[in-house]
Amino acid sequence: MPVTFCRVYRAAVSPAFPTCSLRSLLELKGPSAQELKAGKTGDYGHHLSYFACWSAESYMQLHAPEGLPEITASSNLGTLIADHIDINSNDIVCVASTVVSKAEARTRSLSDFPPGPRATELTAQLAEETANDPDERFIQAVLEESVEILLESPFLLTETRFGHVGVNAGIDRSNVGHEELLLLPKHPSKSANRIAESLSTDQVIVTDTCGRPFRHGQRGVAIGWSGIEPSRDWRGETDRDGRELTATVENVIDELAAAANLLAGEGNNGTPVVVIRDFEWGPHAESSAHFRDINDDLIRQAVRGWTYAWLSASWSWVDPRDPNRDSR
Ligand code: GDP
Ligand code: MN
Ligand code: MN
Repeated sequence: MPVTFCRVYRAAVSPAFPTCSLRSLLELKGPSAQELKAGKTGDYGHHLSYFACWSAESYMQLHAPEGLPEITASSNLGTLIADHIDINSNDIVCVASTVVSKAEARTRSLSDFPPGPRATELTAQLAEETANDPDERFIQAVLEESVEILLESPFLLTETRFGHVGVNAGIDRSNVGHEELLLLPKHPSKSANRIAESLSTDQVIVTDTCGRPFRHGQRGVAIGWSGIEPSRDWRGETDRDGRELTATVENVIDELAAAANLLAGEGNNGTPVVVIRDFEWGPHAESSAHFRDINDDLIRQAVRGWTYAWLSASWSWVDPRDPNRDSR
């Protein structure tokens, strides 16, 4: 079975590298051997991966099996994955929530959501305050999937029943098959658990493509997990200068989800599953927290007091930021 393949290396860079023969072997575009001898060392960054080929301390691989069919409510996702790619016991299997939802019959029609008064009210507000003309039934679907609305306008930002915060409760309108809407899995961590039952690893992450505040664009995030703790806790370890780390809890499942999403793609690739091999947790403590609790989520508390109508009201404000800051 053909697989898309990408290899990520981590290695130390030695100033003694690269050598001339290895350079020509790998068609590097860095400084020539003469330039190197003359002390022009150039940028070692782009030699990093080539050096790693020969003396990698560790690396991980990502595989996206091709040939998975259109997933439907009658698909057994775990079995299908196992049929398409050999999985080792230490592998981490990332599965796009889109196919998890399809397998769990989470496709819906707009007509399944007759709008209630709150949906009608929010739809009118969105039409008034933005250039959008949303469908009341879609807004109703978002409300039914949510436990809290964080933003009502210019788009609905809500918390789903399982604790994930996303635009429109993560309801998708692309890659949804013949239906109009695809709801997120009801409980993605339970889905991850179920998928793992058919696999020879218990480590499964359910991903979704999601926007982030403060940055353009979207990336993969983990919305469900099983057999792996969400974070590596570096607190109490030291940096290179012996200073103790006091705050760093690295959210590993989000990082792995982002890497997997990079390979899975967003469009018609047809590769919703990515197997991560040889990821090493290392000698670090684990942390089980993933979604923030409202009580320790300062940003969310701030958002609660904010309204779009207030910002879009006509008051002039001169932006003091460097207009070229994005192009640095
Ligand atoms: P999301 O990030 O979970 O919302 O999922 P996307 O819609 O971005 O899709 C992720 C990947 O799964 C893309 O490569 C899609 O082409 C692929 N995909 C979506 N649905 C199916 C399906 O039913 N079968 C297969 N084989 N691939 C699918
Ligand atoms: Mn999605
Ligand atoms: Mn996606």
